[in-house]
Amino acid sequence: MSTPRANAPRAGTPQTNAPQANAPRANAPRSLGDLQHSIEGCRRCPLAETRTNIVFGVGNPQAEVMFIGEAPGEKEDLGAEPFIGAAGQYLNSLLLLAGLRREEIYIANVLKCRPPGNRDPRPEEIEACTPYLREQVRAIAPPILVTLGRFATQFILKTDRGITNLRGQVHLTGPFSVLPIFHPAAAIYDRSKEPVMEADFRLLGRLLTTRRSEQRKRGEQAGSAERGERGEQAGSAERAGRGERGEQAGEGPANAPLTGPSKRAEGELGGAPAQ
Ligand code: SF4
Repeated sequence: MSTPRANAPRAGTPQTNAPQANAPRANAPRSLGDLQHSIEGCRRCPLAETRTNIVFGVGNPQAEVMFIGEAPGEKEDLGAEPFIGAAGQYLNSLLLLAGLRREEIYIANVLKCRPPGNRDPRPEEIEACTPYLREQVRAIAPPILVTLGRFATQFILKTDRGITNLRGQVHLTGPFSVLPIFHPAAAIYDRSKEPVMEADFRLLGRLLTTRRSEQRKRGEQAGSAERGERGEQAGSAERAGRGERGEQAGEGPANAPLTGPSKRAEGELGGAPAQ
């Protein structure tokens, strides 16, 4: 996994490659499978020369939360899967604080190939590789993005501000709620960051709880409106049926009390406002 980045935030993160979270979806996004297939053998940047594997991303394609890291580390480069080293183990334990399991989330990196020696990503590498990330985000369309570390955060939020200033708050961009968090590797190397990491994952848990509760309420309201409409239609049909039955009954001498039902039926079936 990438080592923590101690350098100051790099200014000039390519703006043209930042994800257009609120861009209109003129074309349907490619499926993750198609996208992964299209990346095979990519040589858009010099990292192709030194990688062992392209590390595309892994997880639930309908994830509510997508985590975005920086770049594959050594283990990930060998295993072709993101976050499988020590930082990944730590991430798995932090997920539990948010009430999440690893298989529920999707996880990918800004760069799909490992920078030699886990050095910082270079602007030209970010520029070359991030169209893939943008397509992944479009394909999954998660309501919540968690950016792990400076590079992912600055790319997603199109900012040069540092992660220390941005973490601990939910940032809204287009349709996404973005929660920047330190890279787990940073907390492995600097244990003083652990309480902050834990607080941020608890915040993620609260964000999920709030979102799910709002969704439930909206679902209940929609269900109630739908039931009301069905009830109205059923009532209308029943009243119409009664009218028809009444009309039929009215034809028989034994049903004289139902005089005038045809009038009522006519009114209801003719679009008279329901009372
Ligand atoms: S880092 Fe991205 S752009 Fe560069 S070779 Fe790998 S997949 Fe291609």
